Parts: sequence; structure tokens; C-alpha cells
Amino acid sequence: MMSQFNRPPLVQPALAREIVPGVMVIPDQYIDLVPNIGIVIGTDAVLVVESGLGSENGQRVLQKAMEVAGSKALLLTTTHFHPEHAFGTGAFKGHATILTNTTQADELREKGASYLNLFRGFGSDAHKALEGVELVMPDETYQGEKTIDLGGKQVVLHELTGGHTRGDQIVFLPHEQVLFTGDLVENHLFPILFDQDASTNRWIEELASLMHLSPATVVPGHGELGKVELLQEVQDLLIFVREEVNRRIKRGQTLDLIDQEAARIIKERYQDWGNDLWIPFEIRNVYAELTGTPLKLPALQLSRTIKEREEKEP
Ligand SMILES: [Zn+2]
Repeated sequence: MMSQFNRPPLVQPALAREIVPGVMVIPDQYIDLVPNIGIVIGTDAVLVVESGLGSENGQRVLQKAMEVAGSKALLLTTTHFHPEHAFGTGAFKGHATILTNTTQADELREKGASYLNLFRGFGSDAHKALEGVELVMPDETYQGEKTIDLGGKQVVLHELTGGHTRGDQIVFLPHEQVLFTGDLVENHLFPILFDQDASTNRWIEELASLMHLSPATVVPGHGELGKVELLQEVQDLLIFVREEVNRRIKRGQTLDLIDQEAARIIKERYQDWGNDLWIPFEIRNVYAELTGTPLKLPALQLSRTIKEREEKEP
């Protein structure tokens, strides 16, 4: 998710590139509401990671995957249920075995319709991309961890404890040391703690456990690929936010004042990071966790931004 919708949210399969032998990434090209998409190729089967936002994107990804797979079996998994990662899944139904962890499937079942409505409100391009989307449940689910052998390519699907979403899943190739993080890492974009199931504390711990995997290549949910440092950078930021908020709670500041002052300090320190509209969500999430009070979500400024843009450039 991004704050400024720069181009129509369309996956660009023609730009797919092999990052290590047998592992392709369709890069997001910094297009808003387009994630990095993975295609892992074994001798027997091909696994796609993320389906994209809506039917057209799902079709584009499927077409590329089928071209790569030929007669091999096709599998699809998603790192989390968010629309730009998982709402193209309908295109895969009947063509691939769709596989996620049980928690992610439950979360999709519970929140899918409301996220569909929400994202349709993110401007005309998003609305168009989500036309006719039907939410599709996985064919197979697992709990905890599942190792898949694609034929000479081992892939581990691992369910996390719920930092970005309740059903977060990473995809790891132990031999190639490639890690698909989903939105637990968005390269130089502020982390998104969107609803009550997100958790700064769990997110920080999850990143620590992922660092222990020592990935050689990190494929973030959005933005340029990198190395293990990407995990460290997000963890540093979340710890910084937590410390800033904690200091102010201890000083007896009101939530209103914390909202203002912590946001200013965070923005100053992370000037080169995008999507600063998510800073208020980070502050509120941390505040709720530190004080043990119910999460009060701030207003989402995204729709206002889009509305203003569309009024200016109809
Ligand atoms: Zn997400």
C-alpha cells in the first residue's frame, strides 16, 4: 500500500528476472498497489508467491507462471491476505493448488469483504483493478510450517506470530537462502500496522527470528530487493518508534501530544522513507501495546489524498 497512486496498479510480467537459478521475481517497479511477485521453479512443479491486486493482475501473473511452468504442476501461495498480495488469487482457481496457512485463510474469510470495500475506495484505478473480484479460499492449508519439494527446489512456508497481519507467512528457500518477507519488509517504506491484529512487539521478534535465517537475498513486499540488512532496518525503525513513544508515556504526555511529537521525531530521522501516512498507525499500535489499553486507530489519510488528486486531475 502506498500513499500516492502514481500509476495504474498493474503487474508487469515482461519485467520478470531470474534472481538466482530457478527463482524469478516480477519486480513491483515502485508501482503503488503492486507487490514483488515470486516464481520458484523446480523440475516437477512451480510455486508462485503472491497473486496481485484483482482479476487482471491475477491473470497476468498466472499467464507468466504457466509460460514458465509448461506441463509442470502449479502452486500458489500468498504472504498475507492484503488485497494487492492476494486478491488476484481467483484467476488461479482450478489452474493451481492454492496453499496458505490456516490463520491466513481464517483472516481472509473474516476480513476479505471489508478490505475489498476499503481498497475499492482507494481511487478509480484501485476500484477498476478490483472489479468482479471474488474471494477465493485456499485449496490446502497448513499450520506452523510446511516444506514443499518442487523437484530440486526446496521451499519452506512458515507461519509467523502476527506482526503485519494475523496470518503472516514467509517463504524461504534454505538452499538458495532467498527469503520472501511479504510486507514485514517494505524497502524504505514505513511499516504498516493496519488493524488490531498487527503488533509492533511481535513484528520486532519476527524480524529477529528471520535474521537468524541469514538470508542472502531478501525479497521485500514492496521496493528494491536487498540483503539481511533490510530486516535490520525495519527492526531498528520499530524499536525507535517504541522507544520514542515509551519515553513520552513515562513523562506523562497525553496521547494527542505523543501523536504529534513522536511523529515529528520519526519523520525527521527517517526522511528518506516513503509512506509516512503510516507513522500515526505505528504510534497508536505501540501506545496500545505499552499501556495495555485498547487500540485507537487514527484516521486514514490515504483516501483524502486520492480524492484531492482526483479532483485536481480528473
Ligand atoms: Zn500488507
